[in-house]
Amino acid sequence: MNTIQNIKGTQDILPLDTKKWQNLETIVRKICSRFGYEEIRTPIIEQTRLFSRSVGEDTDIVTKEMYTWEDRDGTSLTLRPELTASVARSFIQHNLGAQSPIQRLFYMGPLFRRERPQKGRQRQFHQFGVEAFGSENPEQDAEIIAIAWHILSECGLSDIATLNLNSIGCLNCRKEYRKALKEYLSPHLQQLSETSQKRFEINPLRILDTKSENEQRILKDAPLISNFFTAKDQEHFNSVQDLLNTLNIPFTINEKLVRGLDYYSSTVFEFTSSVIGSQDALLGGGRYDNLVKALGGKQMPGIGFAAGMERFLLAMSEQAFESSIDIYFINLDHEAISTVFTLTDKLRKNGYSVLTDTLRRSMKSQLRDANRSGAKYAIILGDTELSTGTIIIKNLNDGIQETIQQNDLINKMQSLTN
Ligand code: AMP
Repeated sequence: MNTIQNIKGTQDILPLDTKKWQNLETIVRKICSRFGYEEIRTPIIEQTRLFSRSVGEDTDIVTKEMYTWEDRDGTSLTLRPELTASVARSFIQHNLGAQSPIQRLFYMGPLFRRERPQKGRQRQFHQFGVEAFGSENPEQDAEIIAIAWHILSECGLSDIATLNLNSIGCLNCRKEYRKALKEYLSPHLQQLSETSQKRFEINPLRILDTKSENEQRILKDAPLISNFFTAKDQEHFNSVQDLLNTLNIPFTINEKLVRGLDYYSSTVFEFTSSVIGSQDALLGGGRYDNLVKALGGKQMPGIGFAAGMERFLLAMSEQAFESSIDIYFINLDHEAISTVFTLTDKLRKNGYSVLTDTLRRSMKSQLRDANRSGAKYAIILGDTELSTGTIIIKNLNDGIQETIQQNDLINKMQSLTN
C-alpha cells in the first residue's frame, strides 16, 4: 500500500528546521516590538470577495491561484492568499482606527497560492509582515522600510539584499501615465504575450514588471511614471529617499517596479537577493491609501510589507544553534525510576531542560545519546548512588565528574550554571 504523502507544494517543517524558524520568528517579534508594532492574528479562511475586491479581479492571485470553494451554505470561501486584505478587513470590522490615530500591526502565518512549485515557491508558504494605518506622511514609509532593514540586518541578510524603490504616484498620476503607456505600447501590441495583451486593456502598468526579454526590449523607451508625478507625489518620494539616506539604507530606484496587486499607490518597494535563485524577491510592500475605503471603511492611508519566511530561511546562512537541553539524566537502575522522576521534576521546576531515557538502555548507549543531545551535563544514578542517596554530575564538555548528595542537586546545578 502506498504511504500517504504531504500535498505538492507544501512542506513538513521537521525538528531540525523548527529551530531556524523559531530563530527567525524571535527576530521578527523583537524588531517589531522595538518599533512599537503589535501582533494581529486573523483567520486562515475568509470570504472570497475580500480578496477579489482588494487584491484585484484580474491579478494572477485572484484569477488562477486561490484555493476557493463553496461552503455548505453556499458562501464562497478562500484560504487566504495574502494578509494585507485580512488585516484591513479586521481593522475596519473592529474600528481599530478609533482606538488610536495610528495603528501599527505585525503578523506571521501561512498563506496559500496554487502556483507552480519550485525552489522558493510553494503552495503553502509563510509570511511575516507589518501594516501601519493612519499616516500618509513619508516618515511612515521610511519607518516601514526601516523595520524591514532592521530585520534583514538581524538575520545577517542586509549585505546580500537590494532595495528596489519606486513610486507609482497618486490616482491622477496613474491615470495620465496609463494613457501614455498605452499610446506607447499600442503599435507593439501584436508582439506582446497573450497575458500582456489582456493587461494592456485592464491594468497596463503591470506589463512593466514582465519577465519576457522581448517585452523588456519593447519597454526600453517607454514613458516613465516619474514624468507624470504631481508636485505632491514628487515631494513625498523625495522625502522618503532623504530619510532612507539619513538611515544609511542603500536603495536603487527601479522605475519598472509596480508590484502586482491593485491596491498599491505611491511608494512601492521590494528587497531582492540573487542568492536565493530565480524567485529572488525576499520582501515586498508599498502604500495602499485607498484599500480601507475600497473595502467599505473610511478613507484611511496605510503602508506595509510582507516577507516570505521560506525565502528568508533559504538566504540565511547555516547558523549554529545551541542545544536547548541542559541536562541528560542517565538512569541505570529500574528501581530508581520514581527517584529519577522526583529529581527531574525538581530540576524542571527550577528552569532546567532535562532529557531522560525511557527505553531502559545501557550506560554506554545513554551516554552516547546524552552527547548527541547536546546536553551540557549528564546526571548519573546507578545502584550505588541510589543506596547512598548520592548522584554523579558529569560535565559533558570536559568530562570532569563529581558525586554529590541528591539533596544538594539544585544548589549544585545553580552554582555550576551561574
Ligand atoms: P507578495 O504577497 O506576492 O508581495 O509576496 C511577498 C513575499 O512573499 C515575496 O517577496 C516572497 O518572499 C514571498 N512569496 C510570495 N509567494 C510565494 C510562494 N508561492 N512561495 C514562497 N514565498 C512566496
